[in-house]
Amino acid sequence: SAGRVVVVGGGFGGAACARALARADAKLQVTLIEPNQTYISCPFSNEVIAGLRQIEAQQFGYDKLAAGGISIVIQAATGIDTQTRRVTTGDGTTFGYDRLVLSPGIDFHLEALPGYDGVAPETMPHGWKAGAQTLLLRRQLEAMADGGTVAIAIPANPSRCPPAPYERASLIAHYLRSSKPRSKVLVLDAKDNFSQQRLFEKAWKELYGDMIERVALSQGGRVTSVDPTTRTIVTEFGNYTPDVANVIPPQRAGRIAAIAGAADATGWCPIDPVTFESKLVPNVHVVGDACLGGGIPKSAAAASAQGKACAGAIVNLFAGRAPETPRLTGLCYNVVAPGYGFSLAGNYEPRGDIFAEVEGGTTSPVDAPRELRAREADEAERWFETITADTFG
Ligand code: FAD
Repeated sequence: SAGRVVVVGGGFGGAACARALARADAKLQVTLIEPNQTYISCPFSNEVIAGLRQIEAQQFGYDKLAAGGISIVIQAATGIDTQTRRVTTGDGTTFGYDRLVLSPGIDFHLEALPGYDGVAPETMPHGWKAGAQTLLLRRQLEAMADGGTVAIAIPANPSRCPPAPYERASLIAHYLRSSKPRSKVLVLDAKDNFSQQRLFEKAWKELYGDMIERVALSQGGRVTSVDPTTRTIVTEFGNYTPDVANVIPPQRAGRIAAIAGAADATGWCPIDPVTFESKLVPNVHVVGDACLGGGIPKSAAAASAQGKACAGAIVNLFAGRAPETPRLTGLCYNVVAPGYGFSLAGNYEPRGDIFAEVEGGTTSPVDAPRELRAREADEAERWFETITADTFG
């Protein structure tokens, strides 16, 4: 055969990679291992939390991938032997590979947030993996009385989708303004500066007055521990007991990456950015949130672009051709209210062991008429339709 590729993780990175491989060469044996029958998208899940969208609009299956010749295995990968090149799944089946692609997304770095273990996600939902957590946060907001406080604890970078916590703060404020107008959103932030900050802060003032209050790192905003039994958030400067506590813990690569030996002391996976091959284990490639991407923000757009570029590199490696240097584009929309969006587009190229941003990036202007914000909110929806159709449809 032309080569066996096993892809672990059927999210934006893994599904895009599996599809690109199957399309590039019908003789490749491509197997996608993923524990869930239905993928639930994080992009646009903040709209679900704000009551603007149903969770069903976030759900995607793998039928089209199967129809494209990819073997879909609905199991979790539990073991990886990089010597004999075999992946074991939860039911004990093993799958041999010539090349392995890992796109397991994130897991939480619980040692970095004392108290956030056991049942903590039930009382202080993170909502950073979409599905039950998204709906739980929605229910807690619905149950909160007017005049309550919703706290959002934001970790330092690198983390999944750096602007998404601020989009969430905005959309929660939108819900509260119309349903519980005496309430507040308290942002406890482990960062001083954040992506598209001036655009967010301008929108907050315009749309929500002083409903959103942010405590930055240098003001003591970093959360150092939590107590889920009393719903207490401890920061460097004091304790908070909000009515709804959305705690987004620090993150690292999905656990299977460490099991494979592909994660380093940072918890993320160092790669050669030309081929996405692991710096630590041979014949293993890592794409998406799990890899150490350097200047490229962890996003669905980046994961998809990396998955496709990695597929191209693997096809070239099988054919004995030199891999092409990838040039990735990342396009990210933030929707802060219905009809109010803005965006950031970046270009990234390998520089040493990471990706660096190169010229040609654009960001929405801080001063712009509402028509532009409305147009970008529309474009955000088109972006979601396009990337999910490209990945799953
Ligand atoms: P994922 O999409 O998480 O996929 C990982 C997959 O691996 C999962 O399906 C999981 O089940 C599977 N998996 C894990 N472990 C195993 C195992 N052991 N065996 C088999 N399978 C396994 N990005 C954007 O570009 N635009 C946005 O607007 C945007 N909004 C966001 C909003 C929020 C609230 C959040 C949290 C994120 C947002 N993102 C956005 C970021 C985006 O969701 C991620 O960057 C993207 O999903 C990363 O893709 P991935 O393939 O690395 O991981």
